[in-house]
Amino acid sequence: MRVTAIALLLVLRGALPAAAAERSILLLAPTATDARLDASHEAISYWNEMLADLGLETRLGAPQVVVDSPVARVLENYARRISQRAFRLPAGTAEPSPPDELTSLDADIVVLLSRQDIMSFTWPMPRVDPPRYFVIIRSVRGPDRDDAMVTRHVVAHELGHAIGLVHNDDPHALMCGPCQPLTADTDATGFLPLTDVDRARLVELHGRGQKGKPTLR
Ligand SMILES: [Zn+2]
Repeated sequence: MRVTAIALLLVLRGALPAAAAERSILLLAPTATDARLDASHEAISYWNEMLADLGLETRLGAPQVVVDSPVARVLENYARRISQRAFRLPAGTAEPSPPDELTSLDADIVVLLSRQDIMSFTWPMPRVDPPRYFVIIRSVRGPDRDDAMVTRHVVAHELGHAIGLVHNDDPHALMCGPCQPLTADTDATGFLPLTDVDRARLVELHGRGQKGKPTLR
């Protein structure tokens, strides 16, 4: 009986779709030479190393990059609406539905490298289960524009939300809120550090048999 039970368990685990632990990412960029593309790839690699170090199976998939997408304008408008209005509203049934142009995209995480100089944020698509996320990375104008270090951290921070992390009050940690990253030191990964609370939360959310169930921005 014991052997049978173990065999059954293996079959059940084997029956799970191979992609179950992989969050697919669609990366929409205004141009093929956008400096945020490299930063995004680095941030994705960073999270995959972190997740592996924690012994977790969840991974961020290699992003599918689309340049100058025809749906970008609709997504930009939705992003602006969220940033102007919905940040002040409680998430829930009153929240406007995301446009079909967004929900019909085939990815767990849609990252828009925005043309707008608006706040970067991560938005759970309302009433979508399992959870999917809309991540906006702002277009920075001014002296920080091509600061790869800043961009890398912004993307890594937002993707951290998309795998369930919340802000902590350490202004020098990756998931800081508020942040003072320019005065902080990176650790051996080249990124601002995770806190013990962040690590524990990732294990709680992504440990065997768990499903990410995050909130956030
Ligand atoms: Zn945040």
